[in-house]
Amino acid sequence: MLNFLKQVGDYAKETAQAAKFIGQGLSVTFDHMKRRPVTVQYPYEKLIPSERYRGRIHFEFDKCISCEVCVRVCPINLPVVDWEFNRETKKKTLNHYSIDFGVCIFCGNCVEYCPTNCLSMTEEYELASYDRHNLNYDNVALGRLPYKVTNDPMVTPMREFGYLPKGVMDPHDLPAGTQRAGRLPKDILAELETQKAKEDAKKASVEAAE
Ligand code: SF4
Ligand code: SF4
Repeated sequence: MLNFLKQVGDYAKETAQAAKFIGQGLSVTFDHMKRRPVTVQYPYEKLIPSERYRGRIHFEFDKCISCEVCVRVCPINLPVVDWEFNRETKKKTLNHYSIDFGVCIFCGNCVEYCPTNCLSMTEEYELASYDRHNLNYDNVALGRLPYKVTNDPMVTPMREFGYLPKGVMDPHDLPAGTQRAGRLPKDILAELETQKAKEDAKKASVEAAE
């Protein structure tokens, strides 16, 4: 009997939880039903990619030491590092480097682990092509920096929806000079540094007192 009551209790608890989750999901749906559609007139208007957007990779040929770490950490061993050993200098000489963006999943592992920081992710997302083989970028194409949305005179840059101030639903309605929702990464870093400096000072005063 006790076991049966426990089962009923568990069932009721799970039902209440399921109802709560369904309610939470539907609240998002109902919230969106109140909003009007927002159309960004691409390519004349473009949203500014977020700071940590993982777009097309940029490569700096002169910094590469041909260590092939990027190949080993890539889930599909994608970067092609073509090097030869120079017997005179006893060092590797890089001949070519390429990444095929038709296959790349933009995970950022190669960028994260490159020991000389010669790889970085840019904000370029316009990689459409009629032939997928055109997406195999060599070191020359990889060395090209993208044109920023904010620098392009032909484009009206718009804030991404996640960065609009509270209550603003449409980037077209954005009053000039308004703060975005959330803080910039540089502000967060500055706050962390201040916090760390305070903690260090506190620790030093405790140590001095002992
Ligand atoms: S990890 Fe960096 S330095 Fe090493 S081969 Fe790749 S791009 Fe070059
Ligand atoms: S971003 Fe990821 S998938 Fe693309 S080359 Fe780098 S490690 Fe490989």
